[in-house]
Amino acid sequence: MEIELTTAQEISETSRQYNLHSWSSQGGLKPKVMLGGQGIYFWDGEGKRYYDMSSQLVNLNIGYGNKKVIKAIQDQAERLAYSSPSFAIDVRSQLAKMVIELAPDNMQKVFFTLGGADANENAIKIAKMVTGRYKIFSRYRSYHGATYGAANLTGEPRRYTSEPGISGFIKFFDPYVYRAPLPFASEEAATSYYLSQLREQIIYEGRDQVAAIFLESITGSNGVIIPPKGYMKGVREICDEFGIMMVCDEVMTGWGRTGEWFAVNNFDVKPDIITFAKGITCGYAPIGGVIVSKEIAQHFDNNFLYCGLTYSAHPLGCAAGIATLEYYKEAGLIKQAKERGVLLGKLLEDIKEKHACVGDVRYIGLFSAIELVKNKETKAPLVEYGIDPEQTMKKIIGKLVAKGFYTYSHENSIIVAPPLIITEEELENAMAIMDEVLSDVDEMVKT
Ligand code: PLP
Repeated sequence: MEIELTTAQEISETSRQYNLHSWSSQGGLKPKVMLGGQGIYFWDGEGKRYYDMSSQLVNLNIGYGNKKVIKAIQDQAERLAYSSPSFAIDVRSQLAKMVIELAPDNMQKVFFTLGGADANENAIKIAKMVTGRYKIFSRYRSYHGATYGAANLTGEPRRYTSEPGISGFIKFFDPYVYRAPLPFASEEAATSYYLSQLREQIIYEGRDQVAAIFLESITGSNGVIIPPKGYMKGVREICDEFGIMMVCDEVMTGWGRTGEWFAVNNFDVKPDIITFAKGITCGYAPIGGVIVSKEIAQHFDNNFLYCGLTYSAHPLGCAAGIATLEYYKEAGLIKQAKERGVLLGKLLEDIKEKHACVGDVRYIGLFSAIELVKNKETKAPLVEYGIDPEQTMKKIIGKLVAKGFYTYSHENSIIVAPPLIITEEELENAMAIMDEVLSDVDEMVKT
């Protein structure tokens, strides 16, 4: 393969001319060039090195340049680069078995996709096929993917372009305790309030009409919102009461991000369906999937499964998945994420205490968000929901990136979710950059 483009400027300019870039208006774009990466770092067209503090899109859990995964993909490409999903092939069978062994013990089978959105698309279809119902509940502060059905499932503004939406998609409120209109006496009180609202809404929608409740086990892009004590168990009970499928979207939280294989393990809850992608291959090759319970698997023993993709369970993705899961185990990365998370939590609490612009910090494992406010007392968000005319958040991210701290923001929150391989020293050094930039934001909110 010969690559004609040699300078960073050529790469960026050609990309601007020919690529349509996600989630942006194209005119003023000057796409940053990435030339390579190693460990938790990548470098740009000028050779400047960055801490990747979002693991790209919270998927690069094992960091850049993992030799084991690269070799597995190379070997598989030589052995068998493609086979239609109807064939049983060694890597396809093995990855499915590994996934089920790591999933909660009520799970039995997996349908592989290419990423998170199509995992959710297929989970919607499976829930409808199993229950014979059509209504799907999901939350406002959620992101479930950009394909049409997944975008209808999504609650935040990235849903708007798929509207008017598909009928039967219903939104409910998140247990976003920091922004609750009235203070709760305890976490349990918050849980009880949000669950009673959800239960009532289901009854109003028709108790035998709802096929599934979709929820990110821990809300990701929309600000790392961790459910209050007992919430997930309560959702499970509501689902059991009304015969609704509980579907946990673990696309971002799965595979160690929160210090557990799956985020639901933090709450000791067993959903009917789990969707996943990202961390199973860390982006080295695309793969995602839908894990289903024993009951659902049995349903399809006698009922037709109307799901299929040319690239379902792609051999390169399966080989990458096996190598990645093995690497997590060999390197003890899940436990490490939990341990490093303690340090990250401490650094975030220090930041919250020190900075006037930090309203809240939320963290679990190596998954966290810093929520910025104009005023700590009133909690007025630094930018209004869905609008940021001054591009304030973009400017803050620009400052971080200029200092070598790469991440992204969503609404008024900054995501901090480094690769699970990060050392304590690297974490401390990177968060020192965050500290510096937040001092500038403090100045901004003072005026
Ligand atoms: N679900 C969640 C929770 C996500 O965070 C994402 C992507 O960020 C998706 C689904 C969509 O995944 P993909 O971009 O692989 O389609």
